[in-house]
Amino acid sequence: MADLQLDAVTKVFTERDGNEITAVDDVSLTIEDGEFLVLVGPSGCGKSTTLRMVAGLESISAGQVRLGDSVVNDSKPKDRNIAMVFQSYALYPHMTVRENMAFGLQESTAMPDDEIERTVASAADMLGIDDLLERKPDDLSGGQQQRVALGRAIVRDPEVFLLDEPLSNLDAKLRAQMRTELKRLQNDLDVATIYVTHDQTEAMTMADKIAILNDGELQQVGTPLECYHEPANLFVASFIGEPSMNFFDVTRDDSQLVHDHFRYDLSNETDDALADAHAELVLGVRPEDIALQSTADGAHTYATVVDVVEPMGNENNVYLTIGDEQTQTFVATVDGMHHVEAGETVYAHIPESAVHLFDRQSGRAMRNRTVESTTIPETKL
Ligand code: ATP
Repeated sequence: MADLQLDAVTKVFTERDGNEITAVDDVSLTIEDGEFLVLVGPSGCGKSTTLRMVAGLESISAGQVRLGDSVVNDSKPKDRNIAMVFQSYALYPHMTVRENMAFGLQESTAMPDDEIERTVASAADMLGIDDLLERKPDDLSGGQQQRVALGRAIVRDPEVFLLDEPLSNLDAKLRAQMRTELKRLQNDLDVATIYVTHDQTEAMTMADKIAILNDGELQQVGTPLECYHEPANLFVASFIGEPSMNFFDVTRDDSQLVHDHFRYDLSNETDDALADAHAELVLGVRPEDIALQSTADGAHTYATVVDVVEPMGNENNVYLTIGDEQTQTFVATVDGMHHVEAGETVYAHIPESAVHLFDRQSGRAMRNRTVESTTIPETKL
């Protein structure tokens, strides 16, 4: 087993008209042995291209991919000891599940038949598909086909697993179930894994480490909670979290942040943290960090009007407007037992310890919420 390292990896595609597209731009990443790294980002940000370069399915324009101590840039896919699972499963329709799982071993190893048989049986048992071994892919559900695709990768006992949106063809419930199963499986196999998705929930729930990509460039690498609580920039802050972080354009005026519809007083501590910042900032606050009150008590509390309430059962997402023109909307997530209706006036308390501040020009985080010391006041409605 080995670490996988991407060192300044770049991919430039040249289109027919000679136009160049930098799909992956100078990406450096280390995936330690046994680590589950989720590569996440919007459509077209370069996730699949990165994975395909690691698998050897796409040439590398610049940089290196290393597996343990070896540079594998020029190795053929079959010589890399890397197994990839695709979104489309890519099963052979004319073969049974058993044949699909055994095929790679028969073709590319000298493993004797009885050992192949045992390896397939053991993987099938691990995945709970041992009673499906004689079926053909067409006779399986999406979730079952996905397990077979995983089984085919597992039997090869790879040093690295690459999974490209493996759950996106499944319905929501099965997807949630498979998330847990896959995470458990990866833990048991203890193999370095890159899992590609555009779904931030999958990234948050499954990853040991998340790498966030935008426009081919790496934005941040960290644990799910680091990326959630300490986003490096506006892109990460808006991409991770559902509902998204709320953003308000503000201008700094001495120790106040001035928004079109409110003024936000800064403590000396926050003011000092902004010493080198531009005056044009973005104030960010997560929906669950906003407390709603029926009275205007306390600092950092603003009158708002309830626009829409989305009941989720355990909690309510309350969409609010602030200011007469109702141009600025934001969302607060409160306990589901709190009753609040559209049209009501409520007071939103935005505690300073929960506030993120970003440079509006560069998007860089100037100040993130303080994880340890943030206590969100209770919603009182
Ligand atoms: P998705 O989530 O939609 O699969 P992605 O993040 O995996 O997207 P890639 O498929 O890696 O993104 O594509 C990254 C960029 O490279 C896109 O702009 C895409 O159009 C471009 N691209 C990918 N393959 C090629 C190719 N063979 N020739 C030219 N451009 C390509």
